[in-house]
Amino acid sequence: MLERFRPNEVAGSLDQVDLQKLQESGKKGIICDIDNTLLPWDQDIPEKRMVQWLEKASDRGIKVVLLSNALPRRARSLSKQLGIPARAQAVKPRRRGFKKALQILDLEPEEVAVVGDQLFTDIWGGNRMGMYTILVSPQDQKEFFSTKILRFLEMKIKKKLGLMA
Ligand SMILES: [Mg+2]
Repeated sequence: MLERFRPNEVAGSLDQVDLQKLQESGKKGIICDIDNTLLPWDQDIPEKRMVQWLEKASDRGIKVVLLSNALPRRARSLSKQLGIPARAQAVKPRRRGFKKALQILDLEPEEVAVVGDQLFTDIWGGNRMGMYTILVSPQDQKEFFSTKILRFLEMKIKKKLGLMA
């Protein structure tokens, strides 16, 4: 029951995700969450180390698409800023948004890794799609109220899955 929330891998942050390892395991694309994965939800510009990580992915020929449950304005701005495609209002963990992201990447689910900070949206959604999932620690403690409530439950599941440091 809880296994659906278990990520294949855990990383401290997005820029700690090992691109070489992903590539060696046949991954050609990454579906990346925005809020608290790429940057804190209340900021507009990602840290330099995140931008550099995205550039490294691009240098390797790994395609990246941003997939967010938030409203389009922020996704559009980041897409423009970083020069990578983005989709908002994805309704993760539902499959539809992930399918759209796959179309953008032009890849199969097994060729794609999902990176995100939430078990109930990013990880569950990626697992449902048969994608490789990577959980990162949230970028910031400040969050939407609705997210905070979910975090409490998430914390319990993380403990049960042995994902807590
Ligand atoms: Mg997030």
